Amino acid sequence: APSAGNSLTLTDLRKTYMTRGRPTFEAVKGIDMQIEPGELVALLGPSGCGKTTTLRMIAGLETVTGGDIRIGDRSIRDLPPGKRDVGVGFESYALYPPLNIRENLAYGLKARKVPDADARVDALAQRLEMTELLKLRPAGLSSGQKQRVALARALIRNPKVLVLDEPLSHLDASARQRVRRELKVLQREFGYTTIVVTHDQLEALSLADRLAVMDQGIIQQFGTPDEVFDDPANQFVADFVGEPKINLVEGVVERSGSGTTVRIGDGSVLQSRATTATPGATVMVGIRPQDCRAAEADAPGLHGEALVVEDLQEFTLVTLAVPGLPAPVVAQLPSGSPVGPGDRIGFSAAADRVYLFDQKDGTRIR
Ligand code: ATP
Repeated sequence: APSAGNSLTLTDLRKTYMTRGRPTFEAVKGIDMQIEPGELVALLGPSGCGKTTTLRMIAGLETVTGGDIRIGDRSIRDLPPGKRDVGVGFESYALYPPLNIRENLAYGLKARKVPDADARVDALAQRLEMTELLKLRPAGLSSGQKQRVALARALIRNPKVLVLDEPLSHLDASARQRVRRELKVLQREFGYTTIVVTHDQLEALSLADRLAVMDQGIIQQFGTPDEVFDDPANQFVADFVGEPKINLVEGVVERSGSGTTVRIGDGSVLQSRATTATPGATVMVGIRPQDCRAAEADAPGLHGEALVVEDLQEFTLVTLAVPGLPAPVVAQLPSGSPVGPGDRIGFSAAADRVYLFDQKDGTRIR
């Protein structure tokens, strides 16, 4: 079970890469994050936003330019990687080529004279479905096999904190699902405080207690999956999280007050719960496909012509051309909805699900 000493706290954590003594790139620009004991946080963000750099600083594989990293109330910032009590699951993390996987995994345990090292390796290998890999040498492994070994290596020493970079990306779909479930079970069982980088949103949602959405070296939002999805902090987060992607269209604020009416394209209006929009201002309006529902022809909504209707198993995706908008919008309707290509239809969303963003900097207008 999680122990109170296992929280992971990042305080104003910064990294500027240097080349020949000169700063070349500010990859992490001041991260504050408190991860509770036993909590699993998924770090999400586009390529180059600083995710890996952040994990490498926690693991001790990269020096810190500023700020602090603590486990419980102890700073680990200046400790060597082996003294941090951080399990590191990076695929690229070196294994000793002459040793087989069993020997690689048992090595650290035996060095510390852990009594039943081999039994522990066996038990973990079984849970990660990699028993048959134990007798192999690192050089012969496929990328999916290497990932399982990297995961085992991160877990074998029972660390307080676990940092995993894309731990399942090379596994095939079914192995991925099983190993993901087992990882979650192990994480719960042993109370590892965990931070995992993933590109896969479904994976993040199914694993994580909270999501940290990162862009340009900054945490844009840190919250539960529901908070991030339902109440995005800004346009970047709204756009990055969610599948299918949120519709973002330009609109002009008509009336504001207890709610806001926004004119969109040539004949559509939407109503938002926002109260601080400036009448006459151009704003970005976000509506998630999942929040769309049919609207009568004379009711507020996005009105136009259905271009494409995709009847998928769990829902129907309708692509709608709205007069005056440069790109079509997408609505996710209940499966079997009676809509066909060429139909004239309208969509709206509840006023608290119509998000407004500042057109210049993407901040949320509430
Ligand atoms: P990805 O998902 O593609 O791995 P990431 O979010 O993990 O991306 P990082 O690997 O942390 O991003 O890199 C952040 C930024 O820092 C990138 O723009 C990268 O080019 C830059 N960077 C990484 N390592 C160095 C280095 N040694 N020197 C200079 N810049 C670097």
